[in-house]
Amino acid sequence: MQEFKTIEVDTDLLIIGPGMAGSGACVEGAHWAKENDVKITVVDKAAMERSGAVGMGLSAINQYQGENTPVDYLSYVRQDLMGLCRDDLVMDISRHVNGSVHMFEKFGLPIWKDPDGNYVHEGRWQLMINGESYKAIVAEAAKNAVGMDNIIERVFVVRLLLDKNDKNRVAGAIGFSVRDPEIYVFRFKACIVCAGGAVHVFRPRSTGEGLGRAWYPPWNAGSSSYLTTTAGAEMTSQEVVFIPARFKDGYGPVGAWFLLFKAMATSATGFNYMAEGLAEGGELHNWPPYGEVKPIPTCLRNHLMMIEMYKKGDGPILMHTDKAIAKIAEQAPDEKAYKKEMKKLEAEAWEDFLDMTISQAVLWASKDVFPEEGPSEIMPSEPYFIGSHSGASGAWTSGPEDIQTDESKKEYFWGYNRMTTVKGLFAAGDGVGVSSHKFSSGSFTEGRIAAKAAVKYCVDNPDKPEVDEAELDKLKELVLKPLKHYEEHKALTTLGTTDKKYALPVEEVNPNYITPKMAIFRLNKIMDEYVAGWGSMYNCSKTTLDIALHLIKLLKEDLSKLAARNLHELMRCWENVHRVQIAEAHTRHKLHREETRWPGYYYRTDFPKLEEDSWGKVFVNSVYDAEKNEFTMRTRPIIHLVDIKEVVGM
Ligand SMILES: Cc1cc2nc3c(=O)[nH]c(=O)nc-3n(C[C@H](O)[C@H](O)[C@H](O)COP(=O)(O)OP(=O)(O)OC[C@H]3O[C@@H](n4cnc5c(N)ncnc54)[C@H](O)[C@@H]3O)c2cc1C
Repeated sequence: MQEFKTIEVDTDLLIIGPGMAGSGACVEGAHWAKENDVKITVVDKAAMERSGAVGMGLSAINQYQGENTPVDYLSYVRQDLMGLCRDDLVMDISRHVNGSVHMFEKFGLPIWKDPDGNYVHEGRWQLMINGESYKAIVAEAAKNAVGMDNIIERVFVVRLLLDKNDKNRVAGAIGFSVRDPEIYVFRFKACIVCAGGAVHVFRPRSTGEGLGRAWYPPWNAGSSSYLTTTAGAEMTSQEVVFIPARFKDGYGPVGAWFLLFKAMATSATGFNYMAEGLAEGGELHNWPPYGEVKPIPTCLRNHLMMIEMYKKGDGPILMHTDKAIAKIAEQAPDEKAYKKEMKKLEAEAWEDFLDMTISQAVLWASKDVFPEEGPSEIMPSEPYFIGSHSGASGAWTSGPEDIQTDESKKEYFWGYNRMTTVKGLFAAGDGVGVSSHKFSSGSFTEGRIAAKAAVKYCVDNPDKPEVDEAELDKLKELVLKPLKHYEEHKALTTLGTTDKKYALPVEEVNPNYITPKMAIFRLNKIMDEYVAGWGSMYNCSKTTLDIALHLIKLLKEDLSKLAARNLHELMRCWENVHRVQIAEAHTRHKLHREETRWPGYYYRTDFPKLEEDSWGKVFVNSVYDAEKNEFTMRTRPIIHLVDIKEVVGM
């Protein structure tokens, strides 16, 4: 095995993952750091220009308050998550998000304007953008703010290090370059974990030829959750995944179709499941109070689809793009204007995909789909972990001080905004739980909030924590173990090695190791079949979850046999270690919450109802002890800061 050199990085504040939240942390953090002589360093496993979930671009900014109040936004988030959110975190982002969006415009992001110069809204909270280069534009501002010398790209952060003298204080991180034989050791006073959510924990619908295509871009592998969990931070709502219903196979966005073009979706035989579900005596009334109030929560919209598809067998679900386009175009006064309007709508429809999900446009083109001529299939996807969107998983963090009540302050505030329960360890974006619907702009905003507090923490805690050097040496070995394991056992592989090549490609089998691809297949199968993936029609029970925990335990043991043929595969190995950790946490959280709170995300078949009086009052939280490899489950109270009189819609 080749020699690895160690690169030491000494800093005050490390931003791990400059996606949307991390970029916000760079912009805001740089300002406060300059004033307080604090050094900021940024590390990304990828290239910042296109890293994270926004790498491909977006067609809308999903959180903009405009003239609405933070309470308005809170009413919408609380409703969508079936009552589960931290009021303080949601309102904190809401009150600052307009400023972030105005910053984006100043950075050069083209936001659609109407003839009067006002933003074009997709819905109440969403703004339409020409967003193909959204991330590149935001990243450029972030890079300018912190300076290129302080940015380290293509380094995968594997694990956080704790203070030798205080096991509840973060002291550093270890990672490796995915390009060169280098181990990175970071030493710092504080860090912000904003390494995104997780995809490919569950079996994707696209397998084989389409493997890798998922709604969530394939490069976020649960690192936020792994880094905070293994450092001992309390985590929350790891059971709340997000299942987006999107155009089938390409996962193209449906937001513009539903909100901007007012398209309707029906079952195969034309049953308008949304209208019927809402009508008196309809299915949604079985899920009070959330099912009875508009906007219908995302999970319940899925639930109605799933009844059509799985219970009635009246699938697929069809989005009537043709009818929506025709209806808008019909308003044109004459034939010429009609043709012009049709062309404009067609262009807008394709641009919606080309801005953020190019593969959907490619798929439609390759399948001869003309949205103006006929409907298209939409489909609930596999589950994803994305606490910044319509899921809720992430770290349990302190909120802002100024908007707490006496009661909530005891539970939700411990000194620094967005600091986890580990000192000096902050989180933002997908890294923070129970503050859903922050999306790209809210994640950027939360990064700003976290960075301001983290700089203050560095100023207040000038002494540097101490890394345990013996533990660090062990971790260095552990990080490279998959490479070593491969070298030691490669001779027994069925596949070609550097010394032995086969003329034809063959499947790799080796008695001593598993490749990252095999490990991910095993994980996906467990999660899909026992933890409520699409293969089990999103159903699980204590029996299936217990089976999953047993299989995950065995898988965890086998992870020590992961083999990497090169640095790229070393990253793949560690991504899977990160995924397995969130998979286990998720399974344990699902097991703990004995109810079905999010039908359409998952069903506990042994507890098929919403239990508002008991489980509706608590968050399910957990703490992981890395030394003992043990989870401790607990609940935390949901404390409302405001009484919501009326839910404000989309
Ligand atoms: C398909 C899709 C469509 C969406 N559509 C919209 C939309 O239309 N409008 C909207 O406003 N929002 C949308 N969102 C939401 C938005 O993209 C997210 O809310 C936002 O990107 C979350 O920001 P984040 O910083 O937490 O994560 P990300 O932006 O994903 O950033 C994560 C960062 O962490 C890095 N990283 C990951 N692991 C490691 C590691 N181990 N070591 C080092 N670095 C690491 C990544 O490279 C990346 O830089 C969409 C999201 C998805 C997935």
